[in-house]
Formats: sequence, structure tokens, C-alpha cells
Amino acid sequence: MRVLITGGAGFIGSHLTDAYLQRGDEVYVIDDLSTGSIGNIQHLKGHPRFHYTIDTVHNHPVTAELVDQCDVIFHLAAAVGVKLIVESPVRTIETNVRGTEVVLSLANKKKKKVLIASTSEVYGLSADVPFREDGNLVMGATTKGRWSYACSKAIDEFLALAYWREKKLPTIIVRLFNTVGPRQTGQYGMVIPTFVKQALAGRPITVYGDGKQSRCFGYVGDVVGALIKLMDTPEAVGQVFNLGSNVEISILELAQRVKEITHSDSEIVFVPYDEAYEEGFEDMPRRVPDITKVSELVGFRPSMSLDGILERVVDYQIGRRTAAAD
Ligand code: UDP
Repeated sequence: MRVLITGGAGFIGSHLTDAYLQRGDEVYVIDDLSTGSIGNIQHLKGHPRFHYTIDTVHNHPVTAELVDQCDVIFHLAAAVGVKLIVESPVRTIETNVRGTEVVLSLANKKKKKVLIASTSEVYGLSADVPFREDGNLVMGATTKGRWSYACSKAIDEFLALAYWREKKLPTIIVRLFNTVGPRQTGQYGMVIPTFVKQALAGRPITVYGDGKQSRCFGYVGDVVGALIKLMDTPEAVGQVFNLGSNVEISILELAQRVKEITHSDSEIVFVPYDEAYEEGFEDMPRRVPDITKVSELVGFRPSMSLDGILERVVDYQIGRRTAAAD
């Protein structure tokens, strides 16, 4: 199979690329390196079944050519990271909405199956935990920049579902919950790489708010396996799936676990949300997926424990620190 992965030099995209190449497929990546990194695909350069284009999916002729060459498309290229979203809302909205429009319209011409990566952010302020795919999405005020990301992704979902219903373009929507593992950087606000980096450097570990907010962290390897299975499963078409772990941990407990695993002397400090992001920033107190749907359809079961994940992230970061020092 020939697989196009937009955002293939990103954290999740590069792991998906590895998995398809290991399976014997041919992979085409397009990435503008805005948040992705060439370092994530460096090890694949020269691989006979790996092809990459450094460009944006907004470039119609380039993306059209790639869509024509491939059998299926994973659309992962998007603005990611709460920090980036709060700091650059124009870029977030335009990247997410326009990019998806381009990919879906081009895919539709040749009726190529598209899997769209959406996000657990779309549940917004919903308190209906665990979140089910058919539950209500509860958006915050438009004056709070964070929710522009959720809304832009919700529009992507509407568009993908509309293409399926109206034009019979096969589309699948996956709402990714906090996905973590090696190659994720803390540059755009993600908590695990940030805490690990701080702990390894002996700098304060910055817990935002009171640390009682919780998240469920899914291992990228588990997530990628399920993405591939969903793409291979005809019944997934026209549907929305939550994907991630359903094991919950508070951010304060996470900080303590990172400190223990790294044997760090770092102090755990509390930073008000207003200081960490912007004035009036709203966080989600809990975010837990109901994963019944993806489990029943493709047998998804998160296999990696949080300690297993943290150990891998620590090894990765130590490797990067060593490489930087050489
Ligand atoms: N967080 C934190 N310290 C940091 C970065 C993040 O306490 O240095 C918190 C953040 O406020 C949120 C949680 O960790 O409650 C997860 O943040 P992340 O950006 O990883 O993902 P989100 O779930 O917000 O999309």
C-alpha cells in the first residue's frame, strides 16, 4: 500500500511512518516543519520505500500530486500544543481549517480514504466524563483563545463527515487524547516532555494551577497501532473514535512520579494559569476517554503503563542531551 502522511515529520506522524515502513508499505510524507522536525525522520532518509516533501499541505499542486500517488491518507498536519495555540491563534485556525479543506477536496477527486486526526480538546468544558463520541461538545467563550483550537478541529470533523455523507468520500475521524512518547518536545507546552526535561536539568518542575487537574496519557506506539487498524477496517468509515489511555493521573502526581523516576532533586512549584498561558485561561479539570468503540471495533487496549512511558521518554531525552553535548 502507498500511504500519504501529512505532518509525517511530527511526533505521531513519524511513529506512524516507522510502523508502515516496518509493515512493508510505501510511505510519502509531507511536512512544513513548523512543529515537526527533520530529526524525527532523519533515520529514514535513504530508505527505498520512504519519500518526503518539505512543504505545506496548503500548496495545492504539490499535495494533489501526492494524493494521486497514494492509496490512503492520514491527515495529521495541524497546529498542536496549547502554548502555540494561545500564542498564535491566527496560525492555528488557518492551518487547521484550510489544511483539512485542501486535503479533503483533493482526496475527494480520486475518492482516496482519509483519516483525520482530531483531538480530545473538542469536548471542551464538558463534565460528562468519560467522554463518549456521541456526547455534547461544550465550548468556552470565543474570547478565550484556547477554544479556537477545539472549534477549528470540530469544523474539520464536520467537514470530513459531510464529505462522507454527501459525496461518499470514505473518511474516519480519530479524537486523540494526550498522546506521549519519545520525539515529543515540550516546546509547545506538552506536560510530560516538559517535566522530564526540567527534572533531568534539576530545574523546578512547573505544575500549573493546583495540580489537581488530571489527564490520561496514551503511548504513541499503542495509538499508532490502532490508527493503522482503523484505516484497515471498512466499518470505521464515516465514524468518530476516541483514542488514548483511560488511566487517569493528576498533574501533581505526575510531577512526583517524574521526580522519582529521574531521581531528581528538582523542586515542584505551582504556577498560576494566568502566568503560564494568558489571563483568564481555562483548563479542563478532567479528560478521560470512553474507549469502548475503538476497543470493540479493532481490539484496542492501551498496553504501556505510565512508568513504561516515562522511562522511554527519559531515555529519549538523555539521548538528546548526550547528542547535544557531543
Ligand atoms: N501542565 C503543567 N505544567 C507544564 C505543562 C502543562 O502543569 O509545564 C498541565 C496543563 O496545564 C494541563 C496538563 O498539564 O493541565 C496537560 O497539558 P498538556 O499541554 O500536555 O496537554 P493538554 O491536556 O492541556 O492539551
